[in-house]
Amino acid sequence: MTIKEMQAGAFQNSLDHGFWDACRLGDRVDPLDAERVLLSIPMIFDADRVIKSIPEKVALLHSECSEVLEIYRERGAYGAADNLYDAPPKMLDSAPALPKKPYGIREELADILIRCGDLAGALGIDLERAVKEKMAYNATRPFKHGKNC
Ligand SMILES: [Mg+2]
Repeated sequence: MTIKEMQAGAFQNSLDHGFWDACRLGDRVDPLDAERVLLSIPMIFDADRVIKSIPEKVALLHSECSEVLEIYRERGAYGAADNLYDAPPKMLDSAPALPKKPYGIREELADILIRCGDLAGALGIDLERAVKEKMAYNATRPFKHGKNC
């Protein structure tokens, strides 16, 4: 899977599950909104709502980072190698059984990437290109970026 494929899949899954419903274009919005076009925000969105959702999406990204830390605190240094499963969320008796939720440092690192892909998709960012460009820049930086740690 390429970064481009991950981004597209993460964004589509998020759309399909309603996480961008509040940002969809309404009747009152000009579909040729200059800001949306400038930023390459998908045609289905109101640019202002997408931009205003960035702090919330960043907070959710932080939450995934915190989950990595929490697992480390729970399991110690070997937590990264564990791949445990949480019980599925409690549902109504009539609801079909859900699969157990994978839960470990590996999965939370994946969640970080998925949330980055989702937000990049909503903002019209080519994340794969950005990663390549930033890694190329980082390779030119001095040892420890000129700092002590
Ligand atoms: Mg998570």
